Amino acid sequence: DAQLRLSVRVAPLGTRFMLLIADDRTEAHRLEAVRRDFVANISHELKTPIGAVGLLAEALEHASDDPEQVRKFADRLQIESARLAAMTQEIIELSRLQASNALADPAEVDVESVVSAAIDKNRVAAEAAGIQLVAGGAKKVKVLGDEAMLVTAVHNLIANAIQYSTKPSRVGIGVIRTDDIVEIAVTDQGVGIPDDELDRVFERFFRVDQARSRATGGTGLGLSIVKHIVQNHGGDVRVWSQAGHGSTFTIRLPRPVEQSTEPAPKKKKV
Ligand code: ADP
Repeated sequence: DAQLRLSVRVAPLGTRFMLLIADDRTEAHRLEAVRRDFVANISHELKTPIGAVGLLAEALEHASDDPEQVRKFADRLQIESARLAAMTQEIIELSRLQASNALADPAEVDVESVVSAAIDKNRVAAEAAGIQLVAGGAKKVKVLGDEAMLVTAVHNLIANAIQYSTKPSRVGIGVIRTDDIVEIAVTDQGVGIPDDELDRVFERFFRVDQARSRATGGTGLGLSIVKHIVQNHGGDVRVWSQAGHGSTFTIRLPRPVEQSTEPAPKKKKV
């Protein structure tokens, strides 16, 4: 009701103020709805792995005479608990990102280092999957932001590109620089995403193919985390895809003002 009192007080100043306050309330309602949905989603998503852990523990108890069975159930218990740990970690990360709209303390970050750190984190998975990672593009490009968060964002895109690829194939990671923006593109030759699902892939817990995503340990949170990190950096993330042929995800980030005012390289005379 603090807002209510405020709106009554500023009303004589003109309709623009009223409009701003109304917007504020809509935003507060939206955030509250986001929070409520998030909690409902989490409860729903956690039920499956928690239920599985319970059932496996029970099965383990009954299989105690059979070492083969014991090993099988113990392995599956480990997989389900690792999935729970990953999901919990991502839920914490996403709720932290959703709670703030801007970066607390942005620093100058070298995009090439971000890309190579993200590639390094995916090297083992790529090798295991028979996928070649190929990087290229603009060098010595800087953005303002949080290096660890940007590494997470690029890492998530590369991890997905590997996960949804068919082997043997390549995943390309390219950096393009224009006067105003830096674009990091991750391209795969994988399963692709059907047109009618493209809009939804950035929603939290959304998976095109529930069974495939669950089987590969996907949480449905990776792209939602990418979207929030990129938005907190004042950028955007987009996707192009063709089912059966592959996908390209691009992160676009604004370049710091100092850099875009640098003199352009001299053009050759023709
Ligand atoms: P997940 O943990 O399931 O991978 P994400 O939020 O990272 O969750 O992705 C959401 C869904 O988008 C995935 O389940 C998958 O169906 C689809 N997706 C994401 N990246 C790709 C890609 N590179 N190729 C094909 N499908 C993808």
